[in-house]
Amino acid sequence: MNRIGKLYFRYGTMGSAKTALLLNTAYYCEERGMHYKCLKPVIDTRDCTNVIKSRIGIERECDWIYHDTDLYNYSRELFEKTGKMVDWFLIDEAQFLTAEQVDQLSRVVDDFGCNVICYGLRTDFQSRLFEGSRRLFEIADTIDEVKSTCTCGHKTIVNARIDANGDFVNEGAQVEIGGDERYIAVCRKCWRNKRIEQSYRDILPFIYPG
Ligand SMILES: [Zn+2]
Repeated sequence: MNRIGKLYFRYGTMGSAKTALLLNTAYYCEERGMHYKCLKPVIDTRDCTNVIKSRIGIERECDWIYHDTDLYNYSRELFEKTGKMVDWFLIDEAQFLTAEQVDQLSRVVDDFGCNVICYGLRTDFQSRLFEGSRRLFEIADTIDEVKSTCTCGHKTIVNARIDANGDFVNEGAQVEIGGDERYIAVCRKCWRNKRIEQSYRDILPFIYPG
């Protein structure tokens, strides 16, 4: 095949409209008669709808990526089944891909000439890279940041996990099933300051009891 594709990584924090961008790209493909496919890693099996949905109400159907899905085989089988190679694979929540699946996607690009755009978070609530994001930073052809702004005006960097009181949570599993309302995107400085503030507040009653 002579087509030349690219592996893209578009990363940002939560609430930075990555999903809306994905859906925009899907629309763009439809308008131009290009063959595209939306995909999403499955984290929560209770969330049983195979659609990608943005907060402004647009949605598109997608296929699920399971933890053990071989994306290279998946693409080849899709081609054999439909007789048509996908021009654009649009992948939401790409941080949840395994490193292996990102490698498989790179082979889909190199062997079949497909374009693959991965939209996802850079880091988790402890500011550490997700596995899929790490691999994408390592091997993607093109990397773009989807920016959004903290309440203080700086660029958001960290997806802070919050508890019922709105306090930042420092420990826990990297992936926790729950709604987006459990997270807030903040800049690095606000992330640090709030945690310092919280630790003082938690310690003070012991230093000055009563
Ligand atoms: Zn801030």
